[in-house]
Amino acid sequence: MRQAKRCIDRICATPYMAAMALREIIILPDKRLRLVSEPVRKITADVRKLVEDMFETMYDAPGVGLAAIQVGMPKRVVTIDIAKKDEPKNPQVFINPEIVTASDEKAIHEEGCLSIPEFYDDVERPAQVKVKYLDLEGQTLEVDADGLLATCLQHEIDHLNGVLFIDYLSKLKRDRVTKKFLKAAKRAAAE
Ligand SMILES: [Zn+2]
Repeated sequence: MRQAKRCIDRICATPYMAAMALREIIILPDKRLRLVSEPVRKITADVRKLVEDMFETMYDAPGVGLAAIQVGMPKRVVTIDIAKKDEPKNPQVFINPEIVTASDEKAIHEEGCLSIPEFYDDVERPAQVKVKYLDLEGQTLEVDADGLLATCLQHEIDHLNGVLFIDYLSKLKRDRVTKKFLKAAKRAAAE
C-alpha cells in the first residue's frame, strides 16, 4: 500500500490526485528528445494530470526539473522544484515558457539531465533570464530568475525545443557520451 503523498500544490485538492502516476523517463538516444514540443492551447484535465504525473516522476527520480517530452509528451510543459533537501517542497509549473530577456552576464553551473543519467558537465548560460509562462489557471506570469532557477529554466526550455545540455559541450565530449548511451541501448535491446 502506498502512503498518502505530501501535498505538492493546490492541484492536489483535485480528484486527479488518486490517479497520480509515475511515467517512464525516456533517455538518450531516444529520438523523441529531439522533437520540438507543441504549445498547450487549453489547460484541460489531461494537462493537469500530466503536470501531476510529472511532479511525481520528477520527485521519484529524483530531479529538480522535468520537461514533458522527457516522459514522451511533446507539450510545452515544465516542472521545477529547486528547494534544498531540508527545505519544504516548492513545486513550480511553467506552461508555454518563453525566455523574454537574457542577461549578457554568464554563469557556469554543473548540469545533469534525467534523460542522460549519471553524466554531468559544466555549461555556461546567461546568469539571469526573464521568463513568460502560463500557470495552471491559464494566467500569464513572468519570473525574473537567477542562480539555479535561471539555469534550470533554460535547460528545461531547451528540452521543449529538442536541445540537450550536451549540445553545449565540445563535439568530442558529446560524441563520447552519445556513443556510451547508444551502446547501452543496443546492449539492452539484445538482452
Ligand atoms: Zn534535462
